[in-house]
Amino acid sequence: NRTIVLASRPHGAPTPDNFRMEERPVPIPGAGELLLQLCYLSLDPYMRGRMNDAPSYTPPFELDAPLTGGAVSRVIESRNEGFAVGDLVLGHLGWQEYALSDGAGLTKLDAGMEHPSYALGALGMPGFTAWHGLLKVGVPRAADTVVVAGASGAVGSIVGQIASIKGARVVGVAGGPDKCRRVVGELGFDACVDHRDPGFAAALLAACPDGIDVYFENVGGAVFDAVLPLLNVGARVPVCGLIAHYNDASYSGGGATDKGPDRLPLVMTTILKRRICVEGFIISDHQAEHGDFLRDLGGWIAAGRVRVLEDVVDGLENAPEAFIGLLEGRNNGKLVIRATHA
Ligand code: NDP
Repeated sequence: NRTIVLASRPHGAPTPDNFRMEERPVPIPGAGELLLQLCYLSLDPYMRGRMNDAPSYTPPFELDAPLTGGAVSRVIESRNEGFAVGDLVLGHLGWQEYALSDGAGLTKLDAGMEHPSYALGALGMPGFTAWHGLLKVGVPRAADTVVVAGASGAVGSIVGQIASIKGARVVGVAGGPDKCRRVVGELGFDACVDHRDPGFAAALLAACPDGIDVYFENVGGAVFDAVLPLLNVGARVPVCGLIAHYNDASYSGGGATDKGPDRLPLVMTTILKRRICVEGFIISDHQAEHGDFLRDLGGWIAAGRVRVLEDVVDGLENAPEAFIGLLEGRNNGKLVIRATHA
């Protein structure tokens, strides 16, 4: 039972040494339990925060214990009458090939589902995040200019396509010309600007001649700096994520090692003068809306109005390297690990 544990906590960007692969016995289900075999494992940016020993909205990963994440698994033994062998389930499980469960927190998926991995992406937590953050926090109106950071990623790719459906003009921000081409060509954004290009701020200005009405914040850093002066009066800024800062000591409350110039007066003055609404949200607070999300996004995907970008990496052993790459922008779409038995 190959299992990946947290070997040490990263300082800055994670490295392969922070992870360790262990061979553990395959567990035997007791009364009321199930044995699950991993099919797909989700890798998500929030996991970087859980590698720190710092309080947050989810507790830290424990040292020498398996890392955990969203997973699609198959029931291969069942001593629980709620589940049968062959059932496909979604749950929060360890980075391991086999796991025990008592069934709590598992959601049954359609066993014949064409793309089970979508339950971790477009039809899972990131898709729900995109749907809620854009429609409930960003509230785009037809003809608004909506700028989406992390545009080729799991959340951003869906945000931009929903904004298009709602009639907005959609400008993505992504890293590198290839990602930008895909965002326009495959996802139908009106434009996409490369944040790694030295002329990024000028290119963003050129792509947003009427300013920005909604900025979907996924990254922070230099992208936010370029967006701030372009925000219109009454703009909305759903703050979904700040991936550019996840490796900074200050993100986990670790103090002032990465102090920069104090931009708080500029940011707050802009918010005040332009009456901007900046609102952070954590998707787990909004479960009551999940049914509406599934109905909307499931319908749009089935109708071909939303396309799903996935980056599938084969082999549980490659999860650490793929996760390190996620924080460097190496993924193209929702990053998932496909296990041997998928
Ligand atoms: P993605 O699939 O978008 O992958 C992460 C991407 O972030 C990378 O591919 C890279 O894209 C970009 N990135 C990394 N470093 C930087 C940087 N320094 N500057 C700009 N971009 C960078 O991840 P997700 O879609 O899963 O997550 C997007 C954001 O949403 C994250 O911040 C995440 O934490 C947040 N989130 C928040 C939730 C909530 O409840 N609030 C729930 C789920 C996600 P590129 O190459 O284009 O730079």
